[in-house]
Amino acid sequence: MDTPVEIGILALQGGVVEHRQHLAALGVSAREVRTPEAIAGLSGLILPGGESTCLARLLGLTGVGPEILRAYREDGLVLWGTCAGAILLAGEIVGEEAHLALMPITVSRNAFGSQLDSFQGSALVPAVADAPIPLVFIRAPQITRADPPARILLELDGYIAAAETDQALATVFHPELAADLSFHRHFLRKCGWRENAAAPGHSRPFLAIQ
Ligand code: GLN
Repeated sequence: MDTPVEIGILALQGGVVEHRQHLAALGVSAREVRTPEAIAGLSGLILPGGESTCLARLLGLTGVGPEILRAYREDGLVLWGTCAGAILLAGEIVGEEAHLALMPITVSRNAFGSQLDSFQGSALVPAVADAPIPLVFIRAPQITRADPPARILLELDGYIAAAETDQALATVFHPELAADLSFHRHFLRKCGWRENAAAPGHSRPFLAIQ
């Protein structure tokens, strides 16, 4: 049997469905979070890709933002930000005020410029999987700096693409848009989940670019 965990996906704006499908492929059903109350009892919460300014505003308007901060500090809530979600977690954003500021990382928004704003690749991320992982970037930020206790998981051409602390994970790419479950599995393990050995290794391939 898996060790059960309650996982939420922030569902105020952005790419929710693909995260839910990836978690379901690992046998975990996730709760969509739109209110502060929906955070109760969660072990982990995914902050999806979308538009970080919009997401930050909605976090304030709904009261979900302060409740994330409280649950992170008092209940050990584990967080994963993908792309815009990583921007929400960053302690510093170049040229802007930080939002949740729960990770000692600096991000630079839309750092790839218009020529290269969306692209794909793959890379080995030894702390996450022993085979290369597909990477999908959509108007991604770059992590330009990560200070202890943050650990760098993936460094590419002069920027950091993934970093983590014990309680938070930031990826500037979108693991939910590639047919690979490694990062979702890694996040679930950070949340205390232990998987059933029979769980499948790959989800149905799909690419839904929002
Ligand atoms: N460019 C967006 C931002 O700065 C992030 C894009 C994404 O999440 N795919 O908020």
